[in-house]
Amino acid sequence: MATAFITHAACLRHDMGSHHPECPSRLSAIDDQLISSGIAQYLQHHEAPLATLEQLARAHPREYIETVQAAAPERGIVHLDPDTAMSPGTWEAVLRAAGAAVLATDLVLEGQVENAFCSVRPPGHHATRSRAMGFCFFNNVAVAALHALERHGLERVAVIDFDVHHGNGTEDIFEDDERVLMVSTFQHPFYPYSGTERPAPNMVNVPLAAGTGSAGFRDAVATRWIPALEDFQPEMVFFSAGFDAHVEDDMAMMRLVDGDYGWVTREVKAVVDKSGGGRIVSVLEGGYALSALGRSVVQHIRVLGGL
Ligand SMILES: [Zn+2]
Repeated sequence: MATAFITHAACLRHDMGSHHPECPSRLSAIDDQLISSGIAQYLQHHEAPLATLEQLARAHPREYIETVQAAAPERGIVHLDPDTAMSPGTWEAVLRAAGAAVLATDLVLEGQVENAFCSVRPPGHHATRSRAMGFCFFNNVAVAALHALERHGLERVAVIDFDVHHGNGTEDIFEDDERVLMVSTFQHPFYPYSGTERPAPNMVNVPLAAGTGSAGFRDAVATRWIPALEDFQPEMVFFSAGFDAHVEDDMAMMRLVDGDYGWVTREVKAVVDKSGGGRIVSVLEGGYALSALGRSVVQHIRVLGGL
């Protein structure tokens, strides 16, 4: 079965200013590497629909959703947080980003594809129930996981977060929710300085020191994530796929290399192949070194698609 690749041109029209690292060229860099690697032609391409209010409201209070919509400017840029801003194109982009994750979930659970990658922005894992922060507005992965649980009736899903920053928003939405297991690695101490103070029992948080590198990352995955995932037996997994732990990415200092992203994808896929028929939805989070981002996404998608 195929791997879906879901994106939308509206995701390029969210613009937080010419010097902001979370920039439209990130998605073009992914497209370029997919084409030059020769794998783009093997993916099933879809345009992201708009997420509905009902879908967003599974993860966020309606008042918060309305506050974000009301903040969208007709021109210029409006900041919701020191590093999170809206431009005239942002509102549609946030709906397409969450809508991509929902479509991916539907395609996988309806058996139309085996798995899916959403090449979207803005990212989502720092968005808490009611706060935009860290370049994020709505929590795309949480919206998708809740769609799988509440629309499709799944009972156990796992969130896998290998972004270099702790996914505090996803933790806020899912802590103590027994239907969800979240496993993550993140540089610590580092933005957003969360994830280490008494995490809930359904959170497998593995803080890693700056400079950790491939061996330490792989050890954390093998000894902490995989046993927890094997015990939990997820029916489906959702990747918060951030590529900012890459050695070429100036955002942080985790020193991963391209091959680590293929490796971690293979390790997690082996678990969900057994427990959940290989059902995976992966959604882009961070990754700001454009060439490294594109190459690492190719490694990730090659494993998803068996390419
Ligand atoms: Zn990040």
